[in-house]
Amino acid sequence: MGEVVIPFKSNAGISQELTQRLLQKGKSYGLNAIFPFQIGKIVVSEWVHLKCRYGCTHYNTNWCCPPATPNPDKVRAILSEYSTALLLVGTKTCSDFYLNNGRKRINQVRCWKGTIMLERMLFLEGYYKSFSLVGECCALCKECAYPDDCRFPQEKRPSVESFSIDVIGTLKNLGTTSTVATKTCETYSYYGVILME
Ligand code: SF4
Repeated sequence: MGEVVIPFKSNAGISQELTQRLLQKGKSYGLNAIFPFQIGKIVVSEWVHLKCRYGCTHYNTNWCCPPATPNPDKVRAILSEYSTALLLVGTKTCSDFYLNNGRKRINQVRCWKGTIMLERMLFLEGYYKSFSLVGECCALCKECAYPDDCRFPQEKRPSVESFSIDVIGTLKNLGTTSTVATKTCETYSYYGVILME
């Protein structure tokens, strides 16, 4: 999806100074923007779960994807325990999008570790409930151990999509529009979310 511009909301429960520090750290992991927003803007939809269940090769192959992750009703219950979220935005080129190669995996791992790092920073700042939903699928291992035990349980988190989050609908709620990248030569944006209170 294309570039997003969302205004900083001072009522989102986190200071601009801390958001900037998170962004400085996130940049070394490929992130280029962080936007705080109210949790009620997140759109959870049953159809997202359908897309995971029917048509995605990751279904039932990874600890960070359905059916290992919470169903939409459980997600709604989880979100009700949070007031704020951070939208993490990074950009990638699409040339490896449909491939499963080392270059794509290096990018995925970088993004994954960056998101967990920011969650840790928030925890140490007193946001003890912080919890990451990472963009795309976990690629920390070349092949996921699922259904055997996860090899890196401390870094295991659900993906944004596995939480049945309608990313495009959520972006619309945040007052921005996005388009779907249709050519493998295009640069696209990817999104992570950190739930916080
Ligand atoms: S860390 Fe490895 S085993 Fe655990 S969810 Fe990620 S890919 Fe699977």
